[in-house]
Amino acid sequence: MEKDSPHVLVINPWIYAFAAYDFWAKPIGLLAIASILRLHGYQVSYIDCLDRYHPDVSHPEKAGRFGKGHYLKTQIPKPEKLYDVPRNYSRYGIPESLVRKTINNSPKPKVVLVTSLMTYWYPGIVAVIELVREMLPEVPVVLGGIYASLCYDHAVQHTGADMVLSGQCEAGLLELLENLTEYTCTCRFSADELDTYPYPAFDLQSAIPYVPILTGHGCPFRCAYCASWFLSPELRRRSPQHVVEEIAYWHEKYSVLDFAFYDDALLIDADRHIIPILEGVLTQGLEVRFHTPNALHIRPLSREVARLMFRSGFKTIRLGLELQQRAHSTSRSGGTAGLASESKNGKLSYSRRFPAASCRELQTAFFDGRKAMDNKVGPGEFEQAVDYLRKAGFKNEAIGTYLLCGLPGHDLAELEASIKMVKACGARPILAQYSPIPHTALWSAAVSASRYDLDSDPIFHNNSIFPCQKEPFSWEQISYLKKLTRE
Ligand code: SF4
Repeated sequence: MEKDSPHVLVINPWIYAFAAYDFWAKPIGLLAIASILRLHGYQVSYIDCLDRYHPDVSHPEKAGRFGKGHYLKTQIPKPEKLYDVPRNYSRYGIPESLVRKTINNSPKPKVVLVTSLMTYWYPGIVAVIELVREMLPEVPVVLGGIYASLCYDHAVQHTGADMVLSGQCEAGLLELLENLTEYTCTCRFSADELDTYPYPAFDLQSAIPYVPILTGHGCPFRCAYCASWFLSPELRRRSPQHVVEEIAYWHEKYSVLDFAFYDDALLIDADRHIIPILEGVLTQGLEVRFHTPNALHIRPLSREVARLMFRSGFKTIRLGLELQQRAHSTSRSGGTAGLASESKNGKLSYSRRFPAASCRELQTAFFDGRKAMDNKVGPGEFEQAVDYLRKAGFKNEAIGTYLLCGLPGHDLAELEASIKMVKACGARPILAQYSPIPHTALWSAAVSASRYDLDSDPIFHNNSIFPCQKEPFSWEQISYLKKLTRE
């Protein structure tokens, strides 16, 4: 690196929310960009406002199981528009004084890059950009990431960034920085070939308690509630060998034990992807633990894949099973085309049927009205996948199954039967609260169903407030359902 090469400061902002927890979450895109910049001679420094391991913070809960854990948090006033929500609102992350101290102690940057994730966390971005503006008034601030892509106009108008980037921006980044810094370099990677990317710069963190791994981007499905197609229009993948080399690198050089796959489509085309990856891990004798906080597809979860997952060290498995969609209510609110024809236009009394029904019968009943929402799993396939996992050696506790709840028009009371069905199949139900996402097929139905003006402000996308329930809902009911998942 040249001594006088430009300095770029990259920042992972605070989260402002009702709830947040570190489920192996790192700004992998931002750290990939940091790594690309280093590869091209830039000096890079990193401020992680969510750093659980900051040396100046004594945080008794920072070390959770397998590297997960609570963020430090500071209660702050609720946004005015959410004044009626009966929950505390917090800024998650390190104190502002530490962010200031780090900026003061770092060389002055030529550019500041800020990332973004959930749309409704944007007040944390506004706060961090305000602080940068105050301390480094003449330095350009560039904002990218998921919120910036999904709510581009909002981000341009409300964050104070000089430039907002939408979508995957690695390809044009060097050119952009050349314009901003007048530093020229020869491109040393190909944006189309993921194997040419350097590993994300996790070594810039205070500690590396775990490493999130992306073996590719995108997903071949197009579920009505998901924006994967918008954020990553094509399924692109690294070679299995490149993935295994990265796992070995972090394990051997930094003693990392826990790895969380964050792919949207990890198991798709298993013969050419996850199977050779896991065989590579076994062949190299890497004694590591794997977690899949993003839901796995159920259909490709074969007996062979389940066995390999167990042998190679998977500890936390999450399956995606969105059984709750009530097509009639979505079509009623003017939503996704085609849902009405799939609907039985009435409610089945799942709870009453449950005691006499098998897991398979219950699945068939549930699947009857959901094909228009997604088609990635059919009746019988969930039970089969869970059976393969259990026979491979996994206990019920390890096989978490997300049940999406709070969809437009969704009756929360129906969740009880879904929870029982998942348990009957030998897995652990986990409620996943729906957050409405712009650019998805379900967005217009979500806007119609919500008691808030979702279009006006991403603050209303917050899944903690069940924004697509028409009436304020009962916290007692949610607590009861959550308790049911744990019994
Ligand atoms: S399968 Fe998962 S990642 Fe793919 S579109 Fe559906 S919800 Fe999104």
